[in-house]
Amino acid sequence: MVSIETVFTRAKLADGSQKEIGVSGGRIVSIEPAGSSAPAGRTVDLAGALVVPGFVEGHIHLDTSFYGDAWIPHKPCTNGFDVHERVAFQAENIAQAAPMDERARNQLDLCIANGSTQMRSHVMVDGSVGLRSLETILKVRDEYRDLIDIQLVAFPQSGILKSPGTPELLDEAVRLGADLVGGLDPGSFDRDVKGHLDVVFGVAERHGVDIDIHLHDAGTLGLFTIEEICARTAALGMGGHVAVSHAYGLGDLAQDAARKAADLIAASGVSIMTNAPGNHNFPPVALLRRAGVTVFSGSDNIRDSWWPYGDGDMLRRAEIIGYRSGFYTDEELQAAFDVVTAAGAKALRLEGYSIEIGARADFVTLQAAHVPEAVVATPKGRKVFKAGKLVAENGAVIR
Ligand SMILES: [Zn+2]
Repeated sequence: MVSIETVFTRAKLADGSQKEIGVSGGRIVSIEPAGSSAPAGRTVDLAGALVVPGFVEGHIHLDTSFYGDAWIPHKPCTNGFDVHERVAFQAENIAQAAPMDERARNQLDLCIANGSTQMRSHVMVDGSVGLRSLETILKVRDEYRDLIDIQLVAFPQSGILKSPGTPELLDEAVRLGADLVGGLDPGSFDRDVKGHLDVVFGVAERHGVDIDIHLHDAGTLGLFTIEEICARTAALGMGGHVAVSHAYGLGDLAQDAARKAADLIAASGVSIMTNAPGNHNFPPVALLRRAGVTVFSGSDNIRDSWWPYGDGDMLRRAEIIGYRSGFYTDEELQAAFDVVTAAGAKALRLEGYSIEIGARADFVTLQAAHVPEAVVATPKGRKVFKAGKLVAENGAVIR
Protein backbone atom coordinates (compact mmCIF):
# COMPACT_ATOMS: atom_id res chain seq x y z
CA MET A 1 0.00 0.00 0.00
CA VAL A 2 1.21 3.51 -0.83
CA SER A 3 1.08 5.93 2.07
CA ILE A 4 -1.23 8.93 1.85
CA GLU A 5 -0.82 12.46 3.20
CA THR A 6 -4.10 12.81 5.09
CA VAL A 7 -6.91 10.43 5.85
CA PHE A 8 -10.29 11.86 6.82
CA THR A 9 -12.02 9.32 9.04
CA ARG A 10 -15.73 8.94 9.84
CA ALA A 11 -16.84 10.81 6.72
CA LYS A 12 -20.50 10.28 5.89
CA LEU A 13 -21.09 10.25 2.15
CA ALA A 14 -24.29 11.27 0.39
CA ASP A 15 -25.35 7.60 0.12
CA GLY A 16 -25.30 7.33 3.93
CA SER A 17 -22.21 5.15 4.14
CA GLN A 18 -19.38 6.05 6.51
CA LYS A 19 -15.97 6.02 4.83
CA GLU A 20 -12.38 7.12 5.13
CA ILE A 21 -11.23 9.61 2.50
CA GLY A 22 -7.52 9.60 1.66
CA VAL A 23 -6.02 12.78 0.21
CA SER A 24 -2.62 13.36 -1.38
CA GLY A 25 -1.43 16.29 -3.47
CA GLY A 26 -4.79 18.02 -3.10
CA ARG A 27 -6.71 15.11 -4.67
CA ILE A 28 -8.87 12.34 -3.28
CA VAL A 29 -6.78 9.18 -3.69
CA SER A 30 -8.84 6.64 -1.78
CA ILE A 31 -12.31 6.09 -0.35
CA GLU A 32 -12.32 3.07 1.95
CA PRO A 33 -14.46 1.48 4.66
CA ALA A 34 -13.49 2.35 8.27
CA GLY A 35 -10.11 1.01 9.30
CA SER A 36 -8.97 -0.08 5.86
CA SER A 37 -7.12 3.00 4.59
CA ALA A 38 -3.43 2.92 3.76
CA PRO A 39 -1.12 4.44 6.41
CA ALA A 40 -1.39 8.23 6.45
CA GLY A 41 0.85 11.06 7.60
CA ARG A 42 -2.08 12.74 9.32
CA THR A 43 -5.57 11.76 10.42
CA VAL A 44 -8.54 14.14 10.60
CA ASP A 45 -11.65 12.81 12.35
CA LEU A 46 -14.81 14.18 10.71
CA ALA A 47 -16.95 12.61 13.46
CA GLY A 48 -19.71 11.36 11.20
CA ALA A 49 -20.42 14.69 9.48
CA LEU A 50 -21.93 14.64 5.99
CA VAL A 51 -19.22 15.35 3.40
CA VAL A 52 -20.28 17.11 0.20
CA PRO A 53 -18.30 18.83 -2.56
CA GLY A 54 -17.52 22.53 -2.00
CA PHE A 55 -20.37 24.73 -3.20
CA VAL A 56 -20.26 26.46 -6.58
CA GLU A 57 -20.99 30.18 -6.23
CA GLY A 58 -21.82 30.65 -9.90
CA HIS A 59 -22.80 34.32 -10.04
CA ILE A 60 -21.61 37.07 -7.76
CA HIS A 61 -20.30 40.64 -8.01
CA LEU A 62 -17.07 41.01 -6.04
CA ASP A 63 -16.61 44.65 -7.07
CA THR A 64 -19.92 46.13 -5.96
CA SER A 65 -20.81 44.63 -2.56
CA PHE A 66 -20.67 46.67 0.65
CA TYR A 67 -20.67 43.57 2.86
CA GLY A 68 -18.56 44.24 5.96
CA ASP A 69 -18.53 47.99 5.18
CA ALA A 70 -20.96 50.62 6.48
CA TRP A 71 -24.65 49.85 5.86
CA ILE A 72 -25.87 51.66 2.78
CA PRO A 73 -29.68 52.02 2.81
CA HIS A 74 -31.39 50.92 -0.40
CA LYS A 75 -32.57 53.79 -2.57
CA PRO A 76 -35.60 52.94 -4.75
CA CYS A 77 -35.71 54.08 -8.39
CA THR A 78 -37.77 57.22 -8.95
CA ASN A 79 -40.16 55.68 -11.48
CA GLY A 80 -40.23 51.90 -11.32
CA PHE A 81 -37.17 49.68 -11.79
CA ASP A 82 -34.62 51.23 -14.14
CA VAL A 83 -31.24 49.62 -14.74
CA HIS A 84 -29.70 52.95 -15.87
CA GLU A 85 -30.74 54.66 -12.64
CA ARG A 86 -29.52 51.75 -10.50
CA VAL A 87 -26.12 51.92 -12.21
CA ALA A 88 -25.99 55.66 -11.38
CA PHE A 89 -26.89 54.97 -7.71
CA GLN A 90 -24.19 52.31 -7.67
CA ALA A 91 -21.55 54.76 -8.86
CA GLU A 92 -22.55 57.25 -6.12
CA ASN A 93 -22.45 54.55 -3.42
CA ILE A 94 -19.12 53.09 -4.53
CA ALA A 95 -17.51 56.54 -4.49
CA GLN A 96 -18.21 56.68 -0.73
CA ALA A 97 -17.47 53.06 0.15
CA ALA A 98 -14.35 51.36 1.52
CA PRO A 99 -11.70 50.48 -1.08
CA MET A 100 -12.83 47.78 -3.51
CA ASP A 101 -10.15 45.25 -2.55
CA GLU A 102 -11.24 45.39 1.10
CA ARG A 103 -14.89 44.91 0.20
CA ALA A 104 -14.06 42.05 -2.18
CA ARG A 105 -12.06 40.29 0.56
CA ASN A 106 -14.98 40.66 3.00
CA GLN A 107 -17.30 39.04 0.50
CA LEU A 108 -14.86 36.25 -0.36
CA ASP A 109 -14.36 35.43 3.33
CA LEU A 110 -18.14 35.21 3.73
CA CYS A 111 -18.54 32.86 0.77
CA ILE A 112 -15.60 30.62 1.68
CA ALA A 113 -16.70 30.38 5.32
CA ASN A 114 -20.09 29.16 4.09
CA GLY A 115 -18.48 26.46 1.97
CA SER A 116 -17.96 27.83 -1.54
CA THR A 117 -14.71 26.58 -3.06
CA GLN A 118 -15.48 27.67 -6.63
CA MET A 119 -16.81 30.98 -7.85
CA ARG A 120 -17.73 32.97 -10.94
CA SER A 121 -17.77 36.74 -10.41
CA HIS A 122 -18.86 39.38 -12.87
CA VAL A 123 -16.71 42.51 -12.76
CA MET A 124 -17.84 45.80 -14.22
CA VAL A 125 -16.04 46.93 -17.36
CA ASP A 126 -17.33 50.12 -18.96
CA GLY A 127 -16.38 53.61 -20.11
CA SER A 128 -16.48 55.05 -16.58
CA VAL A 129 -14.39 52.51 -14.64
CA GLY A 130 -12.45 51.15 -17.61
CA LEU A 131 -10.41 48.17 -16.46
CA ARG A 132 -9.69 49.50 -12.95
CA SER A 133 -12.20 47.24 -11.14
CA LEU A 134 -10.92 44.21 -13.01
CA GLU A 135 -7.31 45.05 -12.14
CA THR A 136 -8.25 45.24 -8.44
CA ILE A 137 -10.24 42.01 -8.45
CA LEU A 138 -7.49 40.17 -10.36
CA LYS A 139 -5.06 41.06 -7.55
CA VAL A 140 -7.50 39.88 -4.88
CA ARG A 141 -8.09 36.65 -6.83
CA ASP A 142 -4.38 36.02 -6.70
CA GLU A 143 -4.29 36.50 -2.91
CA TYR A 144 -7.08 33.95 -2.52
CA ARG A 145 -5.80 31.30 -4.92
CA ASP A 146 -5.23 28.72 -2.16
CA LEU A 147 -8.72 29.26 -0.73
CA ILE A 148 -11.07 29.44 -3.70
CA ASP A 149 -10.96 29.20 -7.52
CA ILE A 150 -12.44 32.27 -9.16
CA GLN A 151 -13.55 32.82 -12.77
CA LEU A 152 -13.99 36.47 -13.74
CA VAL A 153 -16.48 37.75 -16.31
CA ALA A 154 -15.86 41.07 -18.07
CA PHE A 155 -19.28 42.56 -17.41
CA PRO A 156 -20.49 45.53 -19.51
CA GLN A 157 -22.70 46.98 -16.77
CA SER A 158 -23.41 50.14 -18.81
CA GLY A 159 -24.26 48.33 -22.02
CA ILE A 160 -21.96 47.70 -24.97
CA LEU A 161 -23.26 49.84 -27.83
CA LYS A 162 -24.45 52.62 -25.52
CA SER A 163 -21.18 52.97 -23.65
CA PRO A 164 -18.50 54.26 -26.02
CA GLY A 165 -15.28 52.26 -26.05
CA THR A 166 -16.79 49.21 -24.33
CA PRO A 167 -16.31 46.72 -27.22
CA GLU A 168 -12.58 47.47 -27.18
CA LEU A 169 -12.50 47.35 -23.37
CA LEU A 170 -14.03 43.86 -23.38
CA ASP A 171 -11.21 42.67 -25.64
CA GLU A 172 -8.64 44.28 -23.36
CA ALA A 173 -10.32 42.81 -20.27
CA VAL A 174 -9.87 39.30 -21.64
CA ARG A 175 -6.24 40.05 -22.52
CA LEU A 176 -5.76 41.32 -18.96
CA GLY A 177 -7.08 38.12 -17.37
CA ALA A 178 -10.89 37.95 -17.50
CA ASP A 179 -11.92 34.35 -18.19
CA LEU A 180 -15.28 35.10 -19.79
CA VAL A 181 -17.08 37.86 -21.63
CA GLY A 182 -20.44 39.07 -20.36
CA GLY A 183 -23.41 40.98 -21.69
CA LEU A 184 -26.41 42.89 -20.40
CA ASP A 185 -29.98 42.95 -21.69
CA PRO A 186 -29.15 43.30 -25.39
CA GLY A 187 -32.73 44.32 -26.24
CA SER A 188 -33.89 46.62 -23.47
CA PHE A 189 -30.54 48.20 -22.61
CA ASP A 190 -28.68 48.55 -25.92
CA ARG A 191 -31.90 48.21 -27.96
CA ASP A 192 -30.05 46.09 -30.50
CA VAL A 193 -29.98 42.36 -29.81
CA LYS A 194 -27.96 41.53 -32.92
CA GLY A 195 -25.43 44.34 -32.46
CA HIS A 196 -24.88 43.49 -28.79
CA LEU A 197 -24.49 39.76 -29.42
CA ASP A 198 -22.16 40.41 -32.39
CA VAL A 199 -19.74 42.06 -29.96
CA VAL A 200 -20.09 39.46 -27.18
CA PHE A 201 -19.73 36.42 -29.45
CA GLY A 202 -17.00 38.22 -31.40
CA VAL A 203 -14.87 38.66 -28.26
CA ALA A 204 -15.53 35.04 -27.29
CA GLU A 205 -14.51 33.74 -30.72
CA ARG A 206 -11.38 35.90 -30.95
CA HIS A 207 -10.10 34.86 -27.54
CA GLY A 208 -11.63 31.39 -27.12
CA VAL A 209 -13.43 32.36 -23.90
CA ASP A 210 -16.85 31.40 -22.55
CA ILE A 211 -19.87 33.70 -22.33
CA ASP A 212 -22.20 34.58 -19.43
CA ILE A 213 -24.89 37.16 -20.25
CA HIS A 214 -27.12 39.00 -17.75
CA LEU A 215 -30.64 38.87 -19.16
CA HIS A 216 -33.36 40.45 -17.01
CA ASP A 217 -35.73 41.04 -19.92
CA ALA A 218 -39.14 39.51 -19.31
CA GLY A 219 -41.74 37.95 -21.59
CA THR A 220 -41.36 37.87 -25.35
CA LEU A 221 -38.24 40.03 -25.48
CA GLY A 222 -36.52 37.76 -22.97
CA LEU A 223 -37.49 34.65 -24.91
CA PHE A 224 -36.49 36.18 -28.25
CA THR A 225 -33.06 37.06 -26.86
CA ILE A 226 -32.58 33.54 -25.47
CA GLU A 227 -33.52 32.08 -28.87
CA GLU A 228 -30.92 34.30 -30.53
CA ILE A 229 -28.25 33.31 -27.98
CA CYS A 230 -29.10 29.62 -28.52
CA ALA A 231 -28.91 29.98 -32.31
CA ARG A 232 -25.45 31.57 -32.15
CA THR A 233 -24.23 29.06 -29.57
CA ALA A 234 -25.31 26.16 -31.77
CA ALA A 235 -23.96 27.74 -34.98
CA LEU A 236 -20.55 28.31 -33.39
CA GLY A 237 -20.44 24.89 -31.70
CA MET A 238 -20.20 26.65 -28.32
CA GLY A 239 -22.56 24.30 -26.46
CA GLY A 240 -21.48 24.04 -22.81
CA HIS A 241 -19.60 27.35 -23.06
CA VAL A 242 -22.48 29.84 -22.84
CA ALA A 243 -24.66 30.81 -19.88
CA VAL A 244 -27.63 33.12 -19.53
CA SER A 245 -27.93 34.58 -16.06
CA HIS A 246 -31.42 35.31 -14.67
CA ALA A 247 -33.43 34.61 -17.85
CA TYR A 248 -36.53 35.89 -16.04
CA GLY A 249 -38.52 35.66 -19.28
CA LEU A 250 -38.55 31.86 -19.00
CA GLY A 251 -40.64 32.27 -15.87
CA ASP A 252 -43.32 34.18 -17.79
CA LEU A 253 -44.09 31.41 -20.28
CA ALA A 254 -47.06 29.04 -20.32
CA GLN A 255 -46.15 25.35 -19.92
CA ASP A 256 -46.08 24.48 -23.62
CA ALA A 257 -43.97 27.47 -24.55
CA ALA A 258 -41.65 26.86 -21.60
CA ARG A 259 -41.17 23.23 -22.66
CA LYS A 260 -40.38 24.29 -26.21
CA ALA A 261 -37.88 26.85 -24.97
CA ALA A 262 -36.33 24.30 -22.60
CA ASP A 263 -35.81 21.83 -25.47
CA LEU A 264 -34.12 24.52 -27.55
CA ILE A 265 -31.87 25.60 -24.65
CA ALA A 266 -30.94 21.99 -23.88
CA ALA A 267 -30.18 21.21 -27.53
CA SER A 268 -27.93 24.25 -27.91
CA GLY A 269 -26.09 23.56 -24.63
CA VAL A 270 -26.76 26.94 -23.03
CA SER A 271 -26.88 26.86 -19.22
CA ILE A 272 -29.20 28.98 -17.12
CA MET A 273 -28.30 30.72 -13.85
CA THR A 274 -31.01 31.63 -11.38
CA ASN A 275 -30.83 32.90 -7.81
CA ALA A 276 -34.63 32.71 -7.42
CA PRO A 277 -34.91 36.41 -6.51
CA GLY A 278 -37.78 37.70 -4.38
CA ASN A 279 -40.47 39.36 -6.44
CA HIS A 280 -39.56 38.20 -9.93
CA ASN A 281 -40.80 35.38 -12.06
CA PHE A 282 -37.79 33.14 -12.49
CA PRO A 283 -36.95 30.13 -14.67
CA PRO A 284 -38.89 26.90 -14.02
CA VAL A 285 -35.99 24.92 -12.53
CA ALA A 286 -37.60 21.46 -12.54
CA LEU A 287 -38.96 21.80 -16.08
CA LEU A 288 -35.59 22.97 -17.41
CA ARG A 289 -33.72 20.18 -15.65
CA ARG A 290 -36.15 17.57 -16.99
CA ALA A 291 -35.41 18.84 -20.51
CA GLY A 292 -31.69 18.43 -19.87
CA VAL A 293 -30.76 22.07 -19.28
CA THR A 294 -27.91 22.77 -16.84
CA VAL A 295 -29.35 25.11 -14.19
CA PHE A 296 -26.87 26.64 -11.77
CA SER A 297 -26.99 29.38 -9.17
CA GLY A 298 -25.23 32.14 -7.31
CA SER A 299 -25.81 34.75 -4.64
CA ASP A 300 -25.71 37.54 -7.25
CA ASN A 301 -25.90 40.79 -5.29
CA ILE A 302 -24.96 40.86 -1.60
CA ARG A 303 -25.52 44.13 0.31
CA ASP A 304 -25.02 46.29 -2.75
CA SER A 305 -26.81 49.06 -4.61
CA TRP A 306 -29.33 46.61 -6.09
CA TRP A 307 -30.69 45.01 -2.94
CA PRO A 308 -29.76 44.51 0.73
CA TYR A 309 -30.14 40.70 0.79
CA GLY A 310 -27.64 37.87 0.48
CA ASP A 311 -25.54 35.87 2.91
CA GLY A 312 -23.03 34.12 0.64
CA ASP A 313 -24.40 30.71 1.63
CA MET A 314 -25.06 28.51 -1.39
CA LEU A 315 -26.77 25.87 0.75
CA ARG A 316 -29.29 28.51 1.77
CA ARG A 317 -29.56 29.49 -1.88
CA ALA A 318 -30.53 25.88 -2.61
CA GLU A 319 -33.20 26.20 0.08
CA ILE A 320 -34.51 29.43 -1.48
CA ILE A 321 -34.61 27.82 -4.94
CA GLY A 322 -36.43 24.81 -3.50
CA TYR A 323 -38.81 26.98 -1.49
CA ARG A 324 -39.75 29.17 -4.44
CA SER A 325 -39.98 26.20 -6.80
CA GLY A 326 -42.33 24.26 -4.52
CA PHE A 327 -39.83 21.45 -4.01
CA TYR A 328 -40.94 19.08 -1.23
CA THR A 329 -39.85 15.52 -2.04
CA ASP A 330 -36.35 14.23 -1.26
CA GLU A 331 -35.72 13.98 -4.98
CA GLU A 332 -36.68 17.64 -5.47
CA LEU A 333 -34.56 18.80 -2.52
CA GLN A 334 -31.69 16.79 -3.98
CA ALA A 335 -32.25 18.65 -7.27
CA ALA A 336 -32.00 22.02 -5.49
CA PHE A 337 -28.71 20.82 -3.98
CA ASP A 338 -27.46 19.70 -7.39
CA VAL A 339 -28.05 23.23 -8.71
CA VAL A 340 -25.50 24.65 -6.23
CA THR A 341 -23.00 21.79 -6.60
CA ALA A 342 -22.66 19.40 -9.57
CA ALA A 343 -24.75 21.43 -12.04
CA GLY A 344 -22.74 24.52 -11.10
CA ALA A 345 -19.54 22.58 -11.74
CA LYS A 346 -20.85 21.56 -15.15
CA ALA A 347 -21.85 25.12 -16.08
CA LEU A 348 -18.43 26.43 -14.99
CA ARG A 349 -16.71 23.48 -16.70
CA LEU A 350 -14.81 22.56 -13.54
CA GLU A 351 -12.41 19.66 -13.65
CA GLY A 352 -12.35 17.01 -10.89
CA TYR A 353 -15.46 18.16 -9.07
CA SER A 354 -16.95 15.37 -6.97
CA ILE A 355 -16.40 13.19 -3.93
CA GLU A 356 -14.67 10.37 -5.78
CA ILE A 357 -11.19 9.03 -6.35
CA GLY A 358 -9.18 11.37 -8.55
CA ALA A 359 -11.36 14.41 -7.77
CA ARG A 360 -10.02 17.55 -6.17
CA ALA A 361 -10.20 17.41 -2.37
CA ASP A 362 -12.50 20.44 -2.09
CA PHE A 363 -15.28 19.58 0.33
CA VAL A 364 -17.53 20.82 3.10
CA THR A 365 -18.77 19.05 6.22
CA LEU A 366 -22.39 19.49 7.26
CA GLN A 367 -24.17 18.48 10.45
CA ALA A 368 -27.04 16.77 8.67
CA ALA A 369 -28.29 13.23 8.25
CA HIS A 370 -28.43 13.54 4.46
CA VAL A 371 -28.60 16.04 1.61
CA PRO A 372 -32.39 16.71 1.66
CA GLU A 373 -32.19 17.54 5.37
CA ALA A 374 -29.15 19.77 4.78
CA VAL A 375 -31.11 21.79 2.19
CA VAL A 376 -33.97 22.62 4.56
CA ALA A 377 -31.92 22.91 7.78
CA THR A 378 -28.91 24.79 6.30
CA PRO A 379 -26.77 23.79 9.29
CA LYS A 380 -23.89 26.06 10.28
CA GLY A 381 -20.74 24.86 12.08
CA ARG A 382 -19.25 23.75 8.76
CA LYS A 383 -15.67 22.83 8.01
CA VAL A 384 -14.42 23.80 4.57
CA PHE A 385 -11.48 22.04 2.94
CA LYS A 386 -9.67 23.25 -0.17
CA ALA A 387 -7.18 20.81 -1.72
CA GLY A 388 -7.47 18.80 1.50
CA LYS A 389 -6.49 21.74 3.69
CA LEU A 390 -8.88 23.23 6.28
CA VAL A 391 -9.60 26.80 5.08
CA ALA A 392 -12.66 27.73 7.16
CA GLU A 393 -14.38 26.56 10.28
CA ASN A 394 -17.44 27.72 12.25
CA GLY A 395 -18.14 30.63 9.90
CA ALA A 396 -14.61 32.04 9.71
CA VAL A 397 -11.73 31.70 7.27
CA ILE A 398 -8.57 30.27 8.80
CA ARG A 399 -5.35 32.13 8.05
ZN1 LIG B 1 -25.47 39.77 -11.61
